[in-house]
Amino acid sequence: MDEARIHILPEHVANQIAAGEVVQRPESVVKELVENALDAGAHSVAVFVREGGKAIIHVLDDGCGMGRADLELALQRHATSKIRTLEDLHAIQTLGFRGEALAAIASVADVEILTRRASDSHGWRLVSRPLKGQTIEPAECPAGTQVIVRNLFFTVPARKKFLRSDTTELRYISETMLRYSLSYPTHAWKFHDGGDVVFDVPPQPLLERIEHLFGEDVAASLIPVDYESELVRIEGYLGLPSLARTTKASQYLFLNHRPIVNRALTHAIYQGYEHMLEKSEHPFFILSMWIDPKRVDVNVHPQKLEVKFDDERALYHAMLEAVLGSMRQHNLIPQFRVQESIATAPFAVVQEPSAKQPLVVNRITGEIVQPDTQFPTALSSSSSSIRPQAFTSRLQSRASATVTAPAQLPLSQHSVGAEAPRIWQMHNKYILVQTDDGIMIIDQHVAHERILYESALDAMEKAAENRTQQLMFPVPLRLSARELSIYRELENDLHRLGYECRLLEESSVVEITGVPVEIRLGKEAESLREVLEQYAEYQTIRPSTARDNLAASFACRAAIKAGDPLTVQEMQQLVAELFQCRTPEVCPHGRPVMIHFPLQELDRRFGRTS
Ligand code: ADP
Ligand code: MG
Repeated sequence: MDEARIHILPEHVANQIAAGEVVQRPESVVKELVENALDAGAHSVAVFVREGGKAIIHVLDDGCGMGRADLELALQRHATSKIRTLEDLHAIQTLGFRGEALAAIASVADVEILTRRASDSHGWRLVSRPLKGQTIEPAECPAGTQVIVRNLFFTVPARKKFLRSDTTELRYISETMLRYSLSYPTHAWKFHDGGDVVFDVPPQPLLERIEHLFGEDVAASLIPVDYESELVRIEGYLGLPSLARTTKASQYLFLNHRPIVNRALTHAIYQGYEHMLEKSEHPFFILSMWIDPKRVDVNVHPQKLEVKFDDERALYHAMLEAVLGSMRQHNLIPQFRVQESIATAPFAVVQEPSAKQPLVVNRITGEIVQPDTQFPTALSSSSSSIRPQAFTSRLQSRASATVTAPAQLPLSQHSVGAEAPRIWQMHNKYILVQTDDGIMIIDQHVAHERILYESALDAMEKAAENRTQQLMFPVPLRLSARELSIYRELENDLHRLGYECRLLEESSVVEITGVPVEIRLGKEAESLREVLEQYAEYQTIRPSTARDNLAASFACRAAIKAGDPLTVQEMQQLVAELFQCRTPEVCPHGRPVMIHFPLQELDRRFGRTS
């Protein structure tokens, strides 16, 4: 009569719940299977996927293989050959140890395993379907193990619904493959997506691996790190400041071969770059750490991405020392730089230099033109600054589309006079404008971002105007696997935005023959890469459509930056364009573009009564 409400969950339900933690997407399956291959002592790992891993994931290794008795247990929950006691758990030497990955995967997908130990005359095939159990039979197969996972989540439609597009899922997988191939340069790696080879690399020194995966330019801009203390050994490469990106995408940190994320250690690395990078810039690094496994707890995160150290503070200092030491050795620690005149002047109205720019071909007229040189395109040597086309072209296209009388623009009455116009740039960052009833402070970057965002959206939706400036000479850009998959996904809209590119067959190089009018010449390749990377980042933090994210990425990357000096004329154009936007007040992320101080408010604060 007293019936228990509590009952023990059936095995398959428990496995599915565990799967929720371990197997979130095809990438998690790839990660677990690759870790198993590495734990099995493989020197060569091949991964084939189809449809972003949703249809099939096939991982082959040349590791130790399994005999029948082991294979029988491999899919059982908590079945592991890697630890036996609680003590072992406190000194994990392997990537896996919980014995739940295969059980979790087998609860949400069809699994086939072919495996043979080198000393056995034949191998075994295991076939398993969720809820249907497993069968094992003798089989002919090479030494090592192959695991084939088909129809992921077909028994769990709710989970399947949460998967992203094939290209996005493939991108997650590519990222994981990239990480492991960087963590194990001594291993051979193959990675295929459908019929395409994403990469195929032999065992090689890390620097060659980097060159293979990121290209010569990156490999040529690195300084080595080689540090050893009682606590930790740190090896790898730091990117020169010139390799810094505007996102954190190219940062690789490994602990005892395991890819990890750790705020403190990342902070230590950034600390090493202090004064070398702008706030918005992120260094490139690939660093491997080796620590006594007893001093690390890797059992704190479902995907084992986060780890806990017994002495995080000591490790922080070791990392900082490693980074600074290698920078000093390579003469990278710069003199302290001050731009006093700029930092202290209350208002800076910039003089126009006569910098020459490369020639541009006007696509419509076929003319070769020298871009207007009255703009400060080369004033701040490396930092990007406004290109004349950025404003004029927008102004022209708007002017022909709308019939806004110039008198409606807030600045029109000020911009005509030969006297000093009532517009100033403050700290190369804010634009101060006198309005009819007060003053307005505009954030130049955010304002330009808003303008570019709206025009990019228009361009993609209407595909009417031609926004391309043709390049005299095509510029090649080598894409990483991740960039390549985003590129493929966005190809059409990138074209509408004004990028004219061609993907060279059988390689990951795009040839850029034209870029949007807003892109500064010399920054063609950089701009495309930055847009792709920003897009990848936004996709994970901004819940929006692909098109909207692309528009925001483009706007963010192509906009003038804080720190770019502007001429009076550029400021006027910027403000005029801003007020033609549909939503001039906020940037695509919701940050304010402008602050208005009414005269009344100033009067009140100064105690004026009239
Ligand atoms: P864990 O890796 O945490 O031990 P898994 O569920 O991933 O748990 O794997 C269970 C067991 O199956 C492993 O401990 C190992 O003995 C065996 N196994 C899995 N994959 C392979 C492989 N590729 N080669 C050899 N043995 C494997
Ligand atoms: Mg495992």
